[in-house]
Amino acid sequence: NGQAPAELLSANNITALFDSVDAFLFDCDGVIWKGDKLIDGVRQTLDVLRSKGKKLIFVTNNSRRSRRQYAHKFHSLGVSVSEDEIFSSSFAAAMYLKVNNFPQENKVYVIGGEGILEELRQAGYTGLGGPEDGEKRVQLKSNCLFEHDKNVGAVVVGLDPHINYYKLQYGTLCIRENPGCLFIATNRDAVGHLTDLQEWPGAGCMVAAMCASTEKEPIVVGKPSTFMMEILSKKFQIASSRMCMVGDRLDTDILFGQNAGCKTLLVLSGVTTQSTLQDPSNNIQPDYYTNQVSDILELLGQ
Ligand code: PLP
Ligand code: CA
Repeated sequence: NGQAPAELLSANNITALFDSVDAFLFDCDGVIWKGDKLIDGVRQTLDVLRSKGKKLIFVTNNSRRSRRQYAHKFHSLGVSVSEDEIFSSSFAAAMYLKVNNFPQENKVYVIGGEGILEELRQAGYTGLGGPEDGEKRVQLKSNCLFEHDKNVGAVVVGLDPHINYYKLQYGTLCIRENPGCLFIATNRDAVGHLTDLQEWPGAGCMVAAMCASTEKEPIVVGKPSTFMMEILSKKFQIASSRMCMVGDRLDTDILFGQNAGCKTLLVLSGVTTQSTLQDPSNNIQPDYYTNQVSDILELLGQ
């Protein structure tokens, strides 16, 4: 499709990249950590980037945690990152409601985890649903009329390892019976690293179920949608053209960076291999690629 092939990051081109940006945006899984293990050299690399005056921002599609819980995870891995440097898709869902003046008296039904509920609470909203909802409440009697709260004005769908028929029923009726009800997806990743060993069904799978039953398409707030860029570039007053998005996935991270007008760097420490990158059927080419984040240190001669 005419995108120039990615350049291997090297001692020759890294200075140009480094000088052209004020902020590095890091995807988390596959870039900073894999499951619960920090990737080698990440801590030192982040320290050096900070010491050279670069703003560091962390952008994850994983909605299972809130920003507070992510800050805790960073801390437990020995990396000092503050809550306001973290943009998770759970936070993005709450921010979407906020910037669109969603009324505080309306409720939000959540098919997803505690991270989404916590971000909604922080933003002043009342979330219903969540992990334990409806476990023993699935009813399929012929005379059964399903009752749902008529004050629900938005349904947020993220990864929910406890998804069940009741939750799909609840979310579907909120959307189908109220044409004004928002349908928000945290992200549509088909699979995710819920464990260190394999990729398991991601939020995209729950979102697809809701698309089928509502016959609607969601508002997606996670990557590759540029919603998170809108809120973070406003917050830090940095133009997206002065940022470099570092990620391991072409159709979320790199596309997000391209959609938002950032420089893009693909790392091969996560889900994308060099052969996928160079496969003729792949039409997403980052500006640069390298094996892992710590190569930046080495190439900068640190
Ligand atoms: N969603 C889920 C449920 C995940 O487990 C993961 C990765 O672990 C992701 C999304 C992708 O997260 P990230 O954007 O940090 O790569
Ligand atoms: Ca990733």
